[in-house]
Amino acid sequence: MSGFAERFAALRAEIAAEARACGRDPQSIRILGVSKRQPASAIIEAAAAGLTAIGENYVQEAKEKFAQLPPLEKHFIGHVQTNKAKQLVALFDVVQSVDRADAAVALGNAAARAGRVLPVLVQLNISPAERFGCPPDEADALAETIRAQAALRLDGVMAIGPITEDRSETERAFALAAKTFARLGGSTLSIGMSGDWREAIRAGSTMVRIGTALFGERRYD
Ligand SMILES: *Cc1c(COP(=O)(O)O)cnc(C)c1O
Repeated sequence: MSGFAERFAALRAEIAAEARACGRDPQSIRILGVSKRQPASAIIEAAAAGLTAIGENYVQEAKEKFAQLPPLEKHFIGHVQTNKAKQLVALFDVVQSVDRADAAVALGNAAARAGRVLPVLVQLNISPAERFGCPPDEADALAETIRAQAALRLDGVMAIGPITEDRSETERAFALAAKTFARLGGSTLSIGMSGDWREAIRAGSTMVRIGTALFGERRYD
């Protein structure tokens, strides 16, 4: 087995065990492999090991790598800039990071022009250290704006947990995300990363976004 295949198998087993421990069906939790700052070769290895969906944060980096990849479901999880809406629609299957009305309108217009329906998630801000994301009490208004876009389909909620050693703080933040997801509806509650996926699964996550625990350290060069 390759390094990725071993880490992937181990992580899947741990996720399944955590799911069962809290009475959940392991099949109800998908793994998104977060491949930002990883070379295309690492993603090709991941796809060969059975990874079916990846997340990227930067448009230019994604564009360069995607040309080299086998078929994979591609999620955008970075900050949405309205002037990149057309490229996002061309490159990605899902945009998880819609956090304000002008991003929703720009993506809605770009998807309509491309003649497709783009599934999106509302990115919530549940952590004081996070720069982006919609405050939970403004999420209903943003959901309305998204639903008014014929070429967008609101499919749930994404959030980044707080950077903290305090597990109860993480639990409170994820509970807030889960509560907002229950109100907005959709099929996807995208919470949980390499350091906090256990708390996320206990809070009801249906998609964990895992970078370093699968791909190793990111390369900044
Ligand atoms: C980088 C990133 C991840 C993955 O983080 P890891 O801690 O490496 O698992 C998940 N979600 C978002 C939005 C990210 O930017």
